[in-house]
Amino acid sequence: TQVDNDQQYFQSYDQFEIHELMLRDRPRVSAYYDAMMNNKHLFENKVVLDVGSGTGILSMFAAKAGAKFVYAVDACSKICQLAEKLIQCNGLQDRVKVLNKRVEEIEKFEHNIDIIISEWMGFYLFHESMLESVIYARDHFLQKLSSNEDNTPEPIESIMMFPSHAYLYCAPFVDQHIRIESNTMWNDYFGLNMSPLVSHIKNSDLSECVIDTIEPSQLVHDAQLIQSIDLRTVRIDDLRSMRSFCEFEIDNTCIISGFCFWFDCYFSSTNNSSILRSVRLTTSPHASKTHWKQTLVFLPEDIYPLKGDIVPVNIKLKQSAENRRHYNLTIALKKIKEGASAATGDDENFLT
Ligand code: SAH
Repeated sequence: TQVDNDQQYFQSYDQFEIHELMLRDRPRVSAYYDAMMNNKHLFENKVVLDVGSGTGILSMFAAKAGAKFVYAVDACSKICQLAEKLIQCNGLQDRVKVLNKRVEEIEKFEHNIDIIISEWMGFYLFHESMLESVIYARDHFLQKLSSNEDNTPEPIESIMMFPSHAYLYCAPFVDQHIRIESNTMWNDYFGLNMSPLVSHIKNSDLSECVIDTIEPSQLVHDAQLIQSIDLRTVRIDDLRSMRSFCEFEIDNTCIISGFCFWFDCYFSSTNNSSILRSVRLTTSPHASKTHWKQTLVFLPEDIYPLKGDIVPVNIKLKQSAENRRHYNLTIALKKIKEGASAATGDDENFLT
């Protein structure tokens, strides 16, 4: 059930190792550090809510950036105890308060919240669905700067979310190595020839997403933007099912083994008086590696588009009914439009 899924989810975050992995992810931590330290003018004297504070690292950055008070909220008890210790060790206990709760369980805070910081991103951005909790916190607790009598809508620039924007990208890639390895190992399996298995396995073997890094040289086309999220306005319902369509025009005859996904986050809201100095956190294969790596979806078989062909794909991300923290990622490869003649077909060849 959903309750079991959540229990399992929070149990996994109550292990130190996962927090260690995240703390060792320098591109991740330094993006948050820079975003806050470059923008001290936004944090000075403000009240900050850190949704899912873990070891409290981001809460402590916010305090260092000048926040008057920081609520560090996390559902995991062991990690909250550790956070308390770290906050104490840095002499920040008067300004950073740890609350060991799910953010959804909190009725209200003693102070109004001016800024929400959170590191909620999962593999292919949406995995874990923690974004829902961030949206919940935004809608329930974020100070409405202009929640005035005449009910004028709030200027979007005044909604302070760190990060403020997130973008998901997709690019075709080639990786014959994994495929060949997974098929050839059956030829001599404990001294037996098990190769007839390959025809049975082919479609299921690589049908799950693979979380791994790829080299930029494996990308056979530039990435296309397939989802953009404005943290200030996105609604939970927007995340249930997301579709997009891309066309990759092939510059050079190549092999496509599958499609690779990664995301960027920006810390770039502005407020009326001061433009925020924008920072980007990227998980692109072109940049330093992060613990998110990339998400690889293999096609059942490699395809061989020619120069000038157009490869059209429909991409669907649908929250799983059994576990809302997971998504089903479907890639429907439509018929390749050949060179200039471009016969448009609607048949969808592959589902992954
Ligand atoms: N902010 C920390 C940890 C990020 S990992 C860092 O940057 O290192 C995400 C954390 O959010 C986990 O510790 C998880 O337990 C917590 N979390 C996820 N959903 C939550 C919710 N609804 N309420 C409280 N904590 C939550």
